[in-house]
Amino acid sequence: MTTLLTVKNLSKTYDSKAAVKNISFEFQSGKCIALIGPNGAGKTTILRTLAGLLKPSSGTVKFTDMKENDDLRKHIGYLPQYPVFYSWMTGMEFLVYSGQLAFLSKTEAGKRAEDLLVKVGISEAKHQRIGKYSGGMKQRLGIAQAIIHKPKLLMLDEPVSSLDPIGRREVLTLMEELKKEMTILFSTHILSDADEISDELLLLRKGEIVEAGSMSELRQKYQTSKIELEFQ
Ligand code: ATP
Repeated sequence: MTTLLTVKNLSKTYDSKAAVKNISFEFQSGKCIALIGPNGAGKTTILRTLAGLLKPSSGTVKFTDMKENDDLRKHIGYLPQYPVFYSWMTGMEFLVYSGQLAFLSKTEAGKRAEDLLVKVGISEAKHQRIGKYSGGMKQRLGIAQAIIHKPKLLMLDEPVSSLDPIGRREVLTLMEELKKEMTILFSTHILSDADEISDELLLLRKGEIVEAGSMSELRQKYQTSKIELEFQ
C-alpha cells in the first residue's frame, strides 16, 4: 500500500478563531477513513482545505504523485455537506454538465454519466428532473458528480446525516461498493456509520486529532460506550 496524501502541520484560522490546529496525517491508497467529531470540531474545514477550497493558515497538503503545477482539484472529488443541485435539470443533464465543467468533452461526459448513473443506481430515473428525486437519490447523484473526473480521493462531508433511514442505507451501501475502487475520506458525527464503513478513524475535537486508528485498536483503548458518549 502506498501513501496517497500527506498532511503536515495543517492549521486554519478564521479571523482570530482557530478551527484546525496543527494536524498531521497520511492517507494510504485504497483506505476508507472516517473523520469523526462533534459539531464545530473542524471536519468541514479540514475537508474544504484538502479540496483546495480554503487556503490553509499554515501547513501543507501534498499528493504523492502530484506534479509541481498540478491542480489539486483534478485529484479530488468532493461532495459538500449541503450540495447544490439544479432541480430543473435531469440527472443525466446534470452529470453531463458537471463532466464538462470537469474538462471532459461532451461525448466523454455523456459516456461517463451513463456508466455512473448505473453505478449509483439511478439509471432508471436519469431522465427525471432532480427536483423529483428523493434525498438518497440526490446524494447518490452528488457522489456521481464528485467522481465524474475519476479522482484519486473521494471526500464526502456528512454524506448521510440529512437522510431518512432508507436513503442513509442506500448511500452507505454505495460507499461500501466505491471503497473497493478508490480512497475515501468522509466526515460524520455518528460512530456507528464510521464503524460500519471505515478502515480507520480520525477522532477530532476542537480542531485537533485526539485519536487515530482502526475501530478495533480504539476499542482496545476505550470502552465503546465512552467514545459514543463523547461523539453523539
Ligand atoms: P459541523 O458538524 O457543525 O459541520 P464541523 O466539525 O464540520 O462542524 P467546522 O464547520 O469546520 O466544524 O467548524 C469548525 C469551527 O470553525 C467552528 O467553531 C465554526 O464555528 C468555525 N467556523 C467554520 N466556518 C467558519 C467561517 N467561515 N468563519 C468563521 N468561523 C467559522
